[in-house]
Amino acid sequence: MSAHPGHAIPDEAMQQKLRALPSVDELLKRPFVTAMINLRGRALLVRATRLAVGNVRARIKAGGDSHVSDEDIEHAIHTLSRPSLQRVINATGVVLHTNLGRAPISRAALQGAVEVAAGYSTLEFDLQAGERGSRYTHASKLISELLGAEDALVVNNCAAAVLLALSALCAGREAVVSRGELVEIGGGFRIPEVVAQGGARLREVGTTNRTRIRDYEKACGPETGVLIKIHQSNFAQVGFTESVTVAELVQLGRERGLPVLVDAGTGRVVSLPGVGDDGVDIRGALRDGADLCMFSGDKLLGGPQAGVLAGKRALIAACREHPLCRALRVDKMTLAVLEATLRLYLDGREDEIPAVHMLRLTPEALRPRADALLRALSGTALKADIETVSAKAGGGTLPLTEFPSLAVRLTLQGVGAKKLSDMLRACEPPVVARVEEERVLLDLRTVQPEEDAALLAALQRVAATRVNGGVSSC
Ligand SMILES: *Cc1c(COP(=O)(O)O)cnc(C)c1O
Repeated sequence: MSAHPGHAIPDEAMQQKLRALPSVDELLKRPFVTAMINLRGRALLVRATRLAVGNVRARIKAGGDSHVSDEDIEHAIHTLSRPSLQRVINATGVVLHTNLGRAPISRAALQGAVEVAAGYSTLEFDLQAGERGSRYTHASKLISELLGAEDALVVNNCAAAVLLALSALCAGREAVVSRGELVEIGGGFRIPEVVAQGGARLREVGTTNRTRIRDYEKACGPETGVLIKIHQSNFAQVGFTESVTVAELVQLGRERGLPVLVDAGTGRVVSLPGVGDDGVDIRGALRDGADLCMFSGDKLLGGPQAGVLAGKRALIAACREHPLCRALRVDKMTLAVLEATLRLYLDGREDEIPAVHMLRLTPEALRPRADALLRALSGTALKADIETVSAKAGGGTLPLTEFPSLAVRLTLQGVGAKKLSDMLRACEPPVVARVEEERVLLDLRTVQPEEDAALLAALQRVAATRVNGGVSSC
């Protein structure tokens, strides 16, 4: 009851409505609900009726209708059945969209993982010897072969790989890093903090915009543990800049007996036209003599979330034997997907890796699909035309690298860009568009051809929506 006498009467009416709400037991006897129990099971309907009553309770408090309708229950069933982690259509053109799960994984690679995960496996079992084996052997040979490395190790992600390398190779000593490379990657991964967490001391050299090999030389001393080069990833420097190459660092490292580590982040294994020479070529870095390269499995490699360490045998062994390695280890599904992805590279079938394929698509290759979409939408309320736009690799990769792409621009009479993009996200499956200067764009580069039909169906539902009547989802 309200403390304010003036509110007593409306409050009392509301309390009455709340008390009059049906119980879950009563609702479970409704014909609609008993029919749904037959279809979907009692457990779900108990949860759905409870949720529906809760929703109506909130609606009463907001001054709305107090009847628990069949639609309320249907809506609750839908809410409860929809997975939290669900597939969406990425029409942003950003191939490695961190918020949308970075690299889509090839079906061929996933199939292998399903078989491994659904049964028992050789995860830590040596078939020949019939005794305990190591999970770290699985992808390692393929990585080494693909990259020309002596040995390799896979952990949870690249952040874990960097933390492990510093902990195993530089604890209690100094890690020499250029001031221009002390980056923060999204999600709170800051190089100075990771260095500290690894038990190492940061030794910054050079200036923000210019670092020369002399700067590293001057910093080397009895306290030095490693020399590190970090890919700038998500920002770029232009103008009066200078940085040191891997080859130069390696020469210094050899002279001083210090290992050279490269945090590549976005490891590139094959040539990608738009990404050009910016994405660190892992093979090249190892060929130049880097002792240890670290990169993400789900960036330009196009595989599962993982962190790969590749390089000298002794350094990999030190990482593998460090206690942190156990805490950062990967599971069998990741290893199976990664192994299958690596095989696609080794078999010369990397075009079957969705991220690689998408990054290689030309605007001309996208045009027939864009034209088909335009034809299918002609005569509907949704106006569509084709625009040349620029796409990005994304995923903390190469901020300045943009390459030409093709987008379908959508407009719906009387509906602003933000509202239209909201409507697209409310579709089933949700469509995530790119909104740029009041324009809603669908870049087909990141829409897989198998998704075209679902995309069109979603657009047709949006086109048929009566916006004026207040109904705005499809
Ligand atoms: C992306 C990135 C990381 C972090 O990689 P995750 O796999 O997301 O942990 C670390 N270093 C660099 C240079 C990166 O670009």
